[in-house]
Amino acid sequence: MPAQTYLFPCLMDNYGVLIHDPQSGATASIDAPEAAAVEAALKKTGWKLTDILVTHHHADHTQGIAELKQHHRCRVVAPRNEAQRIANVDETVGEGDPVRVGGLDGKVLETPGHTAGHISYVFPADKLAFVGDTLFSIGCGRVIEGNAEMMWQSLLKLRALPDDTRFYCGHEYTDANIRFAKTIEPNNKALTARADEVAKLLSAHKPTIPATIGAEKAENPFLRADLPEVAKAVGLAASPAWKVFAEIRERKNRF
Ligand SMILES: [Zn+2]
Repeated sequence: MPAQTYLFPCLMDNYGVLIHDPQSGATASIDAPEAAAVEAALKKTGWKLTDILVTHHHADHTQGIAELKQHHRCRVVAPRNEAQRIANVDETVGEGDPVRVGGLDGKVLETPGHTAGHISYVFPADKLAFVGDTLFSIGCGRVIEGNAEMMWQSLLKLRALPDDTRFYCGHEYTDANIRFAKTIEPNNKALTARADEVAKLLSAHKPTIPATIGAEKAENPFLRADLPEVAKAVGLAASPAWKVFAEIRERKNRF
């Protein structure tokens, strides 16, 4: 049976998301931004929390872990390379490691850059990816602990997922990301169409995620840094892709 997901807003602009295996009843919370919001989502769905899959150590992704673990006795899986910065971890994982949620088969992709040990969780059979603060819809996370080259490599890993993969990120930043993306590629037709779609969703108070990898490849300037027209747009026609990426990221930081 296919996985089910439940997305809910929490904190200022974070998203929480649950992934549920209807066969076994297992349910994982991707990160734990806020215990009360996760509890409310569990109540609404009637699902029972069995696992927390942590993408990175930032407080707005981990501060609900202790309370949820105490209440549900759930397993906490966290990135090996920064597990020492996360409390209550049961299992640490790295590149290629399998992560099962009941009968759902997930695996880990290391996607460092935003933090040094950031990971993403991919469920290939369900074409789902949980990417934390690495990839956002029409954007990407700030490069805080890593460097631009590292972040570019992480984004390439996510870009290589099948086009129909739906990805869930940690924040609702799509509107601001689109405004910035238009400064890089003002004539990108796919981006213009997406902007209309996103405006409709937001005016109806609906989330703009999940988005698909295929759509992002056409619309997200951070995934398009190796295209000649994008390199040219930022005045770096002969530069390696990661330098183009670094320039776009730098411009977004100042936007
Ligand atoms: Zn973060």
